[in-house]
Amino acid sequence: MGQLQTATTNSSELSSKWLDVSVPIYAGMVHFPDNPTITIDTISRVERGDICTLSRLTIGSHTGTHIDAPNHFLPGGAGAEKTPLENLIGPARVIEIKDPDAVKADELRAHNLGTGERLLFKTSNSERCWKTSEFVQPFVSIAEDAASYLASLNTLAAGIDYLSAGSPETHRTLLGAGVVIIEGLNLSGVSQGRYQLLCLPLKILGGDGAPARVLLRASDGIDESKASMQAMRSSH
Ligand SMILES: [Zn+2]
Repeated sequence: MGQLQTATTNSSELSSKWLDVSVPIYAGMVHFPDNPTITIDTISRVERGDICTLSRLTIGSHTGTHIDAPNHFLPGGAGAEKTPLENLIGPARVIEIKDPDAVKADELRAHNLGTGERLLFKTSNSERCWKTSEFVQPFVSIAEDAASYLASLNTLAAGIDYLSAGSPETHRTLLGAGVVIIEGLNLSGVSQGRYQLLCLPLKILGGDGAPARVLLRASDGIDESKASMQAMRSSH
């Protein structure tokens, strides 16, 4: 019995290390202007004597936490079902952005980014924007010079903590370079550092975007300073 309890405790501790950085989907939640309103209608309900409870969801393809597919901005681009999941599963960094206006290349350069990283930008959006179901403007997004910089590094994924990565040009630059854009993250409970990322977008055929559940787990024993020391050493 004691052993069983210990085992149960350990497994729940293990699972509790995963942090859910996706936002909940609910009727009336915030959406990007001109995107569809989110509604959830109950079609049948067991409490009413129906055989099961069932709802109809009306949502945009860019609802809540989601990925952008290349065809969102690039004519003939791939749909959501072709999103390379290897870009969305594995080591990732959360970077705290100090700039109150935008994620800019200069600030990113100070973080010694390597090629092929998964990067999530924690901006002031996370604390400011998700507290209301009204659309908040202005919000911090990825500047075009930062998008070009990320593209040049063959970044695997770039995440932002509100409902748009940035201008159309920012989108085109990132999507054209194969950077998977994750939008609508809530990183308010997460500090800068290294994590394991698990982001699984819905497999919507030809979808221009797809809602996703996104989890982070802290990478044990690797802190930012040690990791950047290692990066510096290996670059010499
Ligand atoms: Zn989007």
